[in-house]
Amino acid sequence: VLDTVDLVTGPLRIGDDDLAACVSCGLCLPHCPTWRVTGDEALSPRGRITLMREVQWNSAPIDDRFIESMDTCVQCRGCETACPSGVHYGRLIEGTKSVVARHTVRWWHRLGYAQLGHHRRVLMGSSLLAVAQRAHLLPQRIVLPRLPIRRRRLTSSGTDVWLYVGCVMDAWQREVHAATVRVLEAAGAGVQIAPGGCCGALHVHAGLSTQAEAQMRAAMASMPGDASIVVNSAGCGAALKEAGHLLGTPEAQTFSARVFDVHEWLATRLDRLVDGSRAGSTAQAVRVGVQDPCHLRHVQRTHLAVRQVLAPFVTVVELDDDGLCCGAGGAFSTFHPDLASDIRARKLGSIERSATVVVASGNPGCAMHLSAAGAAVLHPMEIIDRALRGVAIAGAN
Ligand code: SF4
Ligand code: SF4
Repeated sequence: VLDTVDLVTGPLRIGDDDLAACVSCGLCLPHCPTWRVTGDEALSPRGRITLMREVQWNSAPIDDRFIESMDTCVQCRGCETACPSGVHYGRLIEGTKSVVARHTVRWWHRLGYAQLGHHRRVLMGSSLLAVAQRAHLLPQRIVLPRLPIRRRRLTSSGTDVWLYVGCVMDAWQREVHAATVRVLEAAGAGVQIAPGGCCGALHVHAGLSTQAEAQMRAAMASMPGDASIVVNSAGCGAALKEAGHLLGTPEAQTFSARVFDVHEWLATRLDRLVDGSRAGSTAQAVRVGVQDPCHLRHVQRTHLAVRQVLAPFVTVVELDDDGLCCGAGGAFSTFHPDLASDIRARKLGSIERSATVVVASGNPGCAMHLSAAGAAVLHPMEIIDRALRGVAIAGAN
């Protein structure tokens, strides 16, 4: 749904006002990971907007160069927060990707994305993958973290807040959910575990807008009532907060207003959490670097809350790359491994310079992407949970 839908004049599903807002100043370029590693104007935000204008306004064809330019956008939206003219780049790239998807998303990709809506299949498929992983049957090019064959069941403890558990994260990182539940309970909240399911974030990323809308409707139906919805995945939280924009209905707007990133929610209840802490000086001396997931920093814009909630427990260390994307980007690292790896190398350099023992990341995709290259990464909720329980934080990854 476009706010400026009546102004759409060309083949791309984007508004003319959004497209016209860019003044081609180039101030966003240093904040763009694909431009930083390639130096190619076509792989920069300004270059991508120029190409969109050619197609939308000047009847240029949707050719290979156009498709590559759009397909290689990580959708980190670092350009959006950097832009002094307020260009809504997220709307531009999402509308464009929904058109380009017919060239870039193969039928077997669509089949894979469709499975995310069937949570039992996701859990079973993940367990089978884990077995194949243990038997060394997976091709070497498939780089995955060690997957769990079984998962511990999560139990609801009240109805103060919903914990949204997602699809792949619930299959692969349920221990992060378990830690999140303990931290929320320590802050005094009774937690209701939402049924597993997909919010459509990966579908939006791939340009599959119809599938994304269906997933979002299912996610909304799975968490009825008016309790706050707490999310510990930056990508899912961003998608759920944008339900109103995606579906354009009053119900979706109301739903979005109930959604909070877990750090954002906890930052207003920190005193209760800190009062119950058994964290001692050992935990507080641990240097933790903070990796800002793009969907927390540039979309939800709640990344400072991560520092707020970590600060009473550990020594928070800033990375020196000004929040540049790590290259994970939904399924980006799967489809563009070389580019994703080059982008990640910059982040790894920044982590190394920070002299930290562990990096906190509030997004499962970023955590897996960085861990695959050897970085020690924990979710901030795991770090706080360990501090609260008096368990060693460093060296436990
Ligand atoms: S998107 Fe914004 S910062 Fe980037 S070139 Fe256009 S106006 Fe400048
Ligand atoms: S969303 Fe990220 S990768 Fe895409 S143009 Fe903007 S800064 Fe570059």
